[in-house]
Amino acid sequence: MTKLDNNEDFMDENKIEDTEVNQCSSCGGNTVYDPVSRGLKCPFCGSEVEIEATRENTTEHDYLGALDKADHSWSDEKRVFKCDNCGAETLLDKDKVADFCSFCGSSHITVTENDAGIKPALVLPFHISKEEAVDKFKKWISKRHFAPSKLKNGYELQKISGAYIPYWTFDSDTKSAYIVKIGTYYYVTETRTVQRDGKTEVVTEQVRKIRWRTERGTYHKFYDDVLVKASKNVASGLIDKVEPFQLSGLLDYRTEYLSGFLAERYSIPLKEGWLAARDIIDSRIQNGILRKETGDEVRIVKVDTAYDGITFKHILLPLWISSFNFNNKVYRFLVNGQTGKVSGRAPISVWKVTFTVLLTILVVGIVFFFQDFI
Ligand SMILES: [Zn+2]
Ligand SMILES: [Zn+2]
Repeated sequence: MTKLDNNEDFMDENKIEDTEVNQCSSCGGNTVYDPVSRGLKCPFCGSEVEIEATRENTTEHDYLGALDKADHSWSDEKRVFKCDNCGAETLLDKDKVADFCSFCGSSHITVTENDAGIKPALVLPFHISKEEAVDKFKKWISKRHFAPSKLKNGYELQKISGAYIPYWTFDSDTKSAYIVKIGTYYYVTETRTVQRDGKTEVVTEQVRKIRWRTERGTYHKFYDDVLVKASKNVASGLIDKVEPFQLSGLLDYRTEYLSGFLAERYSIPLKEGWLAARDIIDSRIQNGILRKETGDEVRIVKVDTAYDGITFKHILLPLWISSFNFNNKVYRFLVNGQTGKVSGRAPISVWKVTFTVLLTILVVGIVFFFQDFI
């Protein structure tokens, strides 16, 4: 446990054993990926080694053929640890040992023989260092205006882990045949009788009606890089709030980018990922059809879509994951490893919220009261 105001090292405590992988040429220590220089750095002597950043991997894997043909050679470099508490599977280099789960903090974590899964094609390396992530978090927590005043100096920051989170991206060509109902407004004059001051009066008015006709059409569109999260871990509820990631920063996967960091094994399998991507594509097709058809009102009756040439990529996106303790409760937070955007849960002061609500009601009441005099 690390107190906020002392300068203990925030390095995570995955034990490092001797290895040939990414060895420092000056002192023989294990180098780790450094978000500041975006190269490898030796934590012992400070030596730096550049990583050749490339973006050549344009191969999209064929989705239908993937289930048996996909590249599973990742299991040769990674070992899978499973958390008994939250179920998250953490991938670490073969020479590393995990002693706690970065996603829920539990120490009930065991090494497994599980397959590491399909090897990632692209990775978005960390741009935000651990120190920057902690700074971003401190700024974020100082802006929790509804938090108890004691929070500012009364929380305990836990260990912070840099984790690559798995995503799927899918491409697909689509051809849709659809049926829509198109409504056109017209107006009729209607006459009716009303009772007014005890007398019967005849009034005429314009009433809007709608005339529907049915149309059929086709919609043809290629969808590129539809992004689907492949993680179901406990922190995933917060991930949406640190998005977006700038995917133009994706680089060819290299084991160096993961040195000193961990990766999560995808818990949403490829097939389930495609179903989620298909839902996203379907709603984009519907929006496309609604934009294409013009009328006073357009309603979709039926869409039949054929998906062709479905391809996918397994990619890794960077997140700093941590939590803080306050009044014996744990609050998790995330920092986007590329942009530094923070999301998290924080305690709320009932008094501050009640006071603000009452103040708002009072102000609105005063405005309404004086409106009558203007
Ligand atoms: Zn060194
Ligand atoms: Zn866990």
